Amino acid sequence: MTPQEIERYARHLILREIGGPGQQKLLNAKLLCIGAGGLGSAALLYLAAAGVGVLGVVDDDVVSLSNLQRQVLHDTASVGTLKTKSAATSISRINPGVQCVGHAVRLTNKNAMEIFQSYDLVLDGSDNFDTRYLVNQTCVDLKIPLISAAMSQWEGQIGLYDPSNGGPCYQCVFPQRPAAGLVPSCAEAGIMGALAGVMGSMMAAEAIKLITGAGQPLRGEILIYDALFGETRKLVTSVNLSCKSCKSVK
Ligand SMILES: [Zn+2]
Repeated sequence: MTPQEIERYARHLILREIGGPGQQKLLNAKLLCIGAGGLGSAALLYLAAAGVGVLGVVDDDVVSLSNLQRQVLHDTASVGTLKTKSAATSISRINPGVQCVGHAVRLTNKNAMEIFQSYDLVLDGSDNFDTRYLVNQTCVDLKIPLISAAMSQWEGQIGLYDPSNGGPCYQCVFPQRPAAGLVPSCAEAGIMGALAGVMGSMMAAEAIKLITGAGQPLRGEILIYDALFGETRKLVTSVNLSCKSCKSVK
């Protein structure tokens, strides 16, 4: 580490659970974030600040004015530009030592493998079930741990899906997508902006724990945060032996 890096990461270096070896793991880590929306914004800001070596961002959308109420990676001047470009600008402003790789494409089963294969960890901050199942299947196939979060209105949830290390995959826990129209989008249901900050920051914290080996990850657990009542609770999840998605790794 350079003297500048030692100063930049000083508050991590004195943490017993991270220290020099943990910070070095963060500097060497390659993390892919699906979506540079509300969840991705907070997660990417903290992971850039933490010095994660490579931050990949998958998003084919452009910044719109109604995003800015919660997507704090983007600003007013970036309305109309690609989210991957706006993300790269913000990330390099926070930490020029981080390499940001933009993938301005819609994720499909044709391109997912090729995009995912150069990363060690995936964060899913996407907003639809098709993408979540595709992200899960690609992570299962490549044995990449997946931190997935979701939110609506005032409530968010987060879990780690890591079947190659003994936990359930996303599809073990959510075997069937809800019927079309049953789960309203943020545009239809609304969302309290700061909830994206809380849940995205939890994603970053879980990623930092997993990369450095600190503490106990949310493997086989879902943490639910209800902002309206200021409550959290945890659910225990388990491997579904008849899950079609991860049967190859069981
Ligand atoms: Zn499974």
